[in-house]
Amino acid sequence: MTDQPFDLDGVLNDLAQKLVHDSRDWAVYRFDAWLYGIFVGWDCEKAHEHDETCDNGDAMQDVAGRHNWGPDTVARLRRARSSVRNASAMAAEIHRLRAELAAEQAQHAYTLRQRNNRSERLLHLRDLALTGDTEALLAAAKDTLAASVNDHKEQS
Ligand SMILES: [Zn+2]
Repeated sequence: MTDQPFDLDGVLNDLAQKLVHDSRDWAVYRFDAWLYGIFVGWDCEKAHEHDETCDNGDAMQDVAGRHNWGPDTVARLRRARSSVRNASAMAAEIHRLRAELAAEQAQHAYTLRQRNNRSERLLHLRDLALTGDTEALLAAAKDTLAASVNDHKEQS
């Protein structure tokens, strides 16, 4: 699943950028205007005080007037635009969650490895203790302590 392409937000953003930067006047033809309305939107979507740089946020009224779109049609176009925006936002959210999950899994795998290392070291100490070789046991215990201190340093 994670290997399968899923860049819906990227695809939609690219498409919107292409439409915005194309020299065509997207308001002239009905079908163009409809596509633009879905993938870019005729309403200004910036959170700002609308001004002449964004047709006072009123481009939808002009376009609707040009193509005789009634309130129902305008509402339908706005719903379609909202769906595309939401799909894009959801895709972006999924990317964020996936990255978060991957980071958590990496941390979890690291912790598991540390725990395994610790168990193995303790088993080794137990085996040494059983042999009665005190010198070897002391040396191994020192190593284990040093390694344990290292683990804590790496983790923090
Ligand atoms: Zn605006």
